[in-house]
Amino acid sequence: MNIEEQINQLRQELRDHNYNYYVLDNPTISDFDFDIKLKELQALEGAYPEYHDADSPTLRVGGEVTKNFQTVPHAFRMYSLDNSYSKEDLEDWEKRIEKQVDGVVAFTCELKYDGASISLTYENGSLVRAVTRGDGFQGDDVTANIKTIKSVPLKLKGDYPAFFEIRGEIVLPFEGFKKMNEERLALGEEPYRNPRNTASGSLKLQDSSEVSKRPLECLLYSLVGEKLPVHTQFEGLEKASRWGFKVPKAAKIARSLDEVMEFVSYWDIHRHELPYETDGVVVKVNNLQQQEELGYTAKAPRWAMAYKFKAEQVSTKLNEITYQVGRTGAITPVANLVPVELAGTTVKRASLHNADQIAKLDIREQDTVYVEKGGEIIPKIIGVDFTQRPSQSVPTEYVKTCPECDTVLVRQEGDAKHYCPNYEGCPPQIIGRIQHYISRKALDIEGLGGETVALLVMNGLITNYADLYTLTTEQITPLERMAEKSADNLVAGVAASKAIPFERVLFGLGIRYVGETVAKKLAKHYKNIDALANASEVELISVDEIGDRIANSVVSFFSSEENATTLERLKLYGVQLEVSAEKLENQTDILAGKTFVVSGVFERVSRNELKKLIEDNGGKVSSSISAKTAYVVAGSNMGPSKLAKAEKLEVSIISEDDFLQMIAH
Ligand code: AMP
Ligand code: ZN
Repeated sequence: MNIEEQINQLRQELRDHNYNYYVLDNPTISDFDFDIKLKELQALEGAYPEYHDADSPTLRVGGEVTKNFQTVPHAFRMYSLDNSYSKEDLEDWEKRIEKQVDGVVAFTCELKYDGASISLTYENGSLVRAVTRGDGFQGDDVTANIKTIKSVPLKLKGDYPAFFEIRGEIVLPFEGFKKMNEERLALGEEPYRNPRNTASGSLKLQDSSEVSKRPLECLLYSLVGEKLPVHTQFEGLEKASRWGFKVPKAAKIARSLDEVMEFVSYWDIHRHELPYETDGVVVKVNNLQQQEELGYTAKAPRWAMAYKFKAEQVSTKLNEITYQVGRTGAITPVANLVPVELAGTTVKRASLHNADQIAKLDIREQDTVYVEKGGEIIPKIIGVDFTQRPSQSVPTEYVKTCPECDTVLVRQEGDAKHYCPNYEGCPPQIIGRIQHYISRKALDIEGLGGETVALLVMNGLITNYADLYTLTTEQITPLERMAEKSADNLVAGVAASKAIPFERVLFGLGIRYVGETVAKKLAKHYKNIDALANASEVELISVDEIGDRIANSVVSFFSSEENATTLERLKLYGVQLEVSAEKLENQTDILAGKTFVVSGVFERVSRNELKKLIEDNGGKVSSSISAKTAYVVAGSNMGPSKLAKAEKLEVSIISEDDFLQMIAH
C-alpha cells in the first residue's frame, strides 16, 4: 500500500468509528485505540501535505479562528413554525389543510429539539457550508465551528444527491451541559443557565478548537433542495439517516389526529428519558406534493405545526431558605421544599439565585410556591400562591452574616451576589480552594479526594494548599477511614505533584476568573510567578485577551499577604512556579509585535505546527489579512482572494522556507 492509500484508509476507518460512536451511539473501538489511529493519521498528513483533504477527520479538533462571521443568504428561507397547544388547535389546522389539498392527508410526527437551528449544504457528498438561521433570510457562516461537531458527517455515504441542503438543530445534551457547569463552578464562575442558550452561544465562538471541546450534537430533520429523490417527509428522514446523518429514531407516521395525540402523550412523559431537551412535537404533512400545494404564510409553512409541551409545574411548600457558601465565598440561597414529583424526578430543592430574586417574587418560608422545570436542570421557583400564605407570615430577611463563619457579608456594586469576605477563615472557602488545587486539571493529586480534604481541614491538619506538602503518614493514619496504605498513597501523590507544570499550578491557585485557558496565557507571557505577581493592572490588560475583570482579580490575589506566604512556601517545597527550562528553550521573542496570516498547504511543517512556531516565537496568528498583518506565510494553493488582499494592502508574502529561516536560532 502506498502512502496515499494508507492515508485514505485511515481516514475512512476513523470516519466509520466517528459514525459508530457519535451517530449510532455504538462504539466498536476504545477511545485509546481511536487516539492512536488519529495520531498516526496526523503524523502522515503532516509529513505528506500533498494529500491534504478538507474533510479529513483530523480537522475535527478545530483551530480556525473567526473574528467576524460572514453573513450569507439562505438559498431556501428558514421558516419558523406555528404553535398549537391542544387537540382543538390541531383539528382547526387539519380543516384548513383539507380545504386546500386533495386526497388523504397523513402526518409525520417528530420531536421538537430545543437548541439552535442550522442549515448544512453538501456538494458531492462533502459538507461545504453551515449557516445559522439568523433572520430566516440570511444567517452567519459558522462552517469552521460546525465541522468540529462529530455527529455532523464531513463526507456522506450511499446514494446522496449531488447538491442539497439539510436542516437540523444543534443541541447540548444534559450530561455534557452538566459537566461544563461543574467546570465553571470549580472556577468560581456563574454556571450557564440552560443547554439551549449554551448551544447557540457555542456556534458563535471565535475559536473553533473551543467549540470542538463542547459536547454538542446535531440532530437532522429536513431535506431541502430542488428535485430531491424523496416523496415524503418520512422517506427524507430515512434517507438522511442512511447517508450518515444523526436522525432521531422517534419519528412516526400518523394517519389521523388521534394517532398524533398518542405520539404527543407518549413523548410528553418519555421525553424525560431523552439525553437532550425537547419542547414539543412537530407535526408535518407527510406527502411533499401536498406540502408544496399548501405552501407558506409570511412566517411559517402551512404544512407543519409545532405542538408545545406544557412546561411542567407543580406547587409545593417551601420549608426553609438556607444559604450555601462556595469556594469563592459567593452565597447562594436555596429553597428547601416538601419533596414533590416533577418532570420525572423528585424535587427537594430549588435555587433562588440571589437576594433580588427573593424580594422580587416576595418568597417567604412556609409559602406554597410554584416550581417549574423548563430548559434548566435545576428547578426554579416561578411564583408564590398568595392565597395559601399563612397569616403570620413575614417578609424574608436575607442573611447578613455567613452561615458558616458568621462574618458580615458584603455585596459589591453591580454584583447580584453577596460574598463572605473571610477568605482566610471560612471553612467551605478553605476546603473548596484546596479541593480545586488537587483537582484533575490542576495539580491532579492522586490518592487524595474532596472528602479527605474536608476531613484534613476539619481535623486542623491543613488550612491551605501549601500545608499539603508537610503532611506525614503518621499524622494522617489516625484519621477515620484512613489505612496506612492510603496515607502513604496520599503523601506520595502530593510529592508527585511537584512535577506538574507551572500553567496548571497557576490554574490550581484558584485565582478568581483564572481558568485553564487564562492560566496558560499568563504562564506563557510572564514565565514565572514573581513576574506575574509584580505585574500591574495596566500591564496585565495589555496581554492578549486579558480584560480588567481578570487583571483586577490577579492583582488583588497577589496583594494578599497570606497568599504571598503560601506561594513562598510552595516555592520552598519545589512546586513548579516557573515555566520549565525545556519549554523556554524553544521560545523566543523574535516575532514579538508581528501578526501573521497562514495560508495554503505546507511541505515541511503542518499548518498547526507553523502556527505554534509563530506563537512560540512571540508572534500572533490571525485568520484574516488586514493592515495590521506583518506577513502572510504562503504555502501552495493559497486562496486567490487572500492573495489579492495581501497584494492590495502591500503585506509581505513569504514562503515556508523564508519563515523557518526567520526563526532559525
Ligand atoms: P420556533 O423557533 O418556535 O418558531 O420553532 C421553529 C424551530 O424549531 C425551527 O427553526 C427548528 O430549528 C426547530 N425544530 C426543532 N425540531 C424540529 C423538527 N423536528 N422539525 C422542524 N423544526 C424543528
Ligand atoms: Zn464565611
